[in-house]
Amino acid sequence: MKKGCPICSHNEYETVIKLDESNQGRFINLSNKKYKGYLEEITPDFSKVKILRCSNCSHHWYAWKPNDRELINMYDKHVPERKKLLKTQKSKASKYIKRELIDLKKFIKKINPTLLDYGSGFGLWTSIAKDINFIVFAYEPSSNRLAKSKEINNHDINFINNLKDIAQKQIDLINIEQVLEHLPNPLGVLKELNYLSNTKTVVRIRVPNLAKCKEGKTLYKSWPFNDKSMHTLTPYAHLNGFTQSSLRISYSRAGFKPAYKFMFFYKPINLIRIVLGEYIKILETTTIYLIKK
Ligand SMILES: [Zn+2]
Repeated sequence: MKKGCPICSHNEYETVIKLDESNQGRFINLSNKKYKGYLEEITPDFSKVKILRCSNCSHHWYAWKPNDRELINMYDKHVPERKKLLKTQKSKASKYIKRELIDLKKFIKKINPTLLDYGSGFGLWTSIAKDINFIVFAYEPSSNRLAKSKEINNHDINFINNLKDIAQKQIDLINIEQVLEHLPNPLGVLKELNYLSNTKTVVRIRVPNLAKCKEGKTLYKSWPFNDKSMHTLTPYAHLNGFTQSSLRISYSRAGFKPAYKFMFFYKPINLIRIVLGEYIKILETTTIYLIKK
């Protein structure tokens, strides 16, 4: 059965990247260097590995994906970058996060708003949110990583690995920071999060933007690895490559719409880019603030 685009269901798409003799050496290098050989181990047949591009929304996706268990194992085997974030980089990131959370808190107008950080990673967002009086729920699906986050994080944060645990809570803010690109089914997850939202919940999403990726015109040629940094469509961590258009279709199909009022008052440049980015590629953005439709 021929399946369409996982985001917009359009039936026309093309193969833009495939694993073949020209790049399999770099695939094996990535597998050995970053995943202890695991990428090769779970790849059944090199000819199955390809990335498709939708002719309608330009979304990019892997035709074949590892299953959930294999993905969790893959992340557990991942060898993190040796060079740590420089102090200046870390403080720049912290400043950005704090500013984002303060703006959102002002808009929400609560002294102790609740935050669900979906895919909380190293816990940078959650610890800053806690410091400015958010009640924090950090969602992490891998039990291994959940245990590790609990170990390193001494703040008072509620770690969960099942969204049902907070089904009865009023969630004021859901943060999905660079997570959707990793998921086998981003649309399904957004629908689940829509179910957790009420009419006032603000949802913040940021994903890598294919229209403005670091590889530029060499996006396809430089795949899957340049021996230095991770590729924007790195196998199998970034299973999705979003464009402004495919992100818009994703949230819209999941029952969300842009939070125009929030962006008008707090993120006017973002708002302008969202409107004009539909027509002018260099203005495209894949950072968006949403509310339930
Ligand atoms: Zn599409």
